[in-house]
Amino acid sequence: MLLQTVLNDIYKFAGFQYKKIILDNKTKELTIQILSDKRYKPLCGKCRNPSSGYDKLKERIFLFIPMWGLKVKLLYTPRRVNCKEHGIVVEHIPWAIGKSPITEAFGIYLAHWAKKLDWKEVAKTFYVSWDIVFNAVQYVVAYGLKNRILQGIKQIGVDEIHFNKMKYLTMIYDITANQKRLLWIGKERKAKTLLRGLRKIGLSNLQGVTAVSIDMWQAYVKVVKKKLPKAIIILDRFHIMKKFNEAIDEVRRKEYVDLKAKGHGTVLKNSRWCFLKKPENLTEKQEQRMKELAKQNLMTYKTNLLRESFQKFWLYTCSTTAEKFLEDWTLIAMRSKIEPIKKVAKMLRRHKKNILNWFMVSPRISNGTVEGFNNKAKTIIRQHYGFRTFSALELALYHSMGDLPMPQLTHSFV
Ligand SMILES: [Zn+2]
Repeated sequence: MLLQTVLNDIYKFAGFQYKKIILDNKTKELTIQILSDKRYKPLCGKCRNPSSGYDKLKERIFLFIPMWGLKVKLLYTPRRVNCKEHGIVVEHIPWAIGKSPITEAFGIYLAHWAKKLDWKEVAKTFYVSWDIVFNAVQYVVAYGLKNRILQGIKQIGVDEIHFNKMKYLTMIYDITANQKRLLWIGKERKAKTLLRGLRKIGLSNLQGVTAVSIDMWQAYVKVVKKKLPKAIIILDRFHIMKKFNEAIDEVRRKEYVDLKAKGHGTVLKNSRWCFLKKPENLTEKQEQRMKELAKQNLMTYKTNLLRESFQKFWLYTCSTTAEKFLEDWTLIAMRSKIEPIKKVAKMLRRHKKNILNWFMVSPRISNGTVEGFNNKAKTIIRQHYGFRTFSALELALYHSMGDLPMPQLTHSFV
């Protein structure tokens, strides 16, 4: 039968033969029987040494990649062998993933799609349960983590993100040019969380780190100073600009209440995104709205102007001129009488050294990297919110963002 020829071409295993193929039209299932080739001795499941056969176990089903709208099952009766070293054990089955009901090829195939689609969608499309998709991803992620190369890490980013209400995750990213990836995820955002992560990556793998991009979270700063003393700590742009946005939000909320009390509640209504978006990203309607808001001499608008004027800071190439700008800007901000923006100015003064460190590192850390990673992580968290388990989320994050090596087969099914 032609199908056997195809299988022998793309998914052949020494010591085994594809035999009977049965198509069940009612269940839409294609069953392919595999028999052991008597010319070969079975291999020990532990050491893979050829051993003498002992007995047979019950027949097992291994799901293969479905095709033409048919479920595809491989049927095989595993043998037990008598290994000189390991005694009586189950033979090595080259297409299996442990006790999983899927073949390795199908596992890799499912994991490939689980990177692109929601896992529920993957399960539905390929006629399997969500648990099987989970197991497939677990298999490739475990392989990837074991086989990834943790060399040449020069810059890392550490950040915390919200997961499930009040819970936090600590994320460690490799932000070295050309090898950006997620290195580690851990529950919580304590000093010991980061410490655990750094140890897991291996402190010896992090000895070449020259810069760590981080937010103001002191627990992290402390650990980095202690464990990576040679690295420069950089307070990244993303976290600084987040403080500005929080300030604008605070001013806008208060001003809205004040205006409402005076009977002008509509002036600032639904204006939040006008202020939080970058000016170049505003829609035409929002741009028009901003022009109107500008005429009102509002506190929110003034705060927004102060934020926009600070953006210039990031265009400097030299730290001395950048420092001068920072000092001038904080002076103006402190005189603004706008409390939330004065708070930002104080924060900038307090962290000046770590902020200016950004200009000291070469090659300069791209400002969008940590932010981009965080946005991707947040999308994945949203997608997986329904599952609520940390292990599923952890897998999904490593799978999508870890840039992990995948197990390789002789034929690529994807
Ligand atoms: Zn053995």
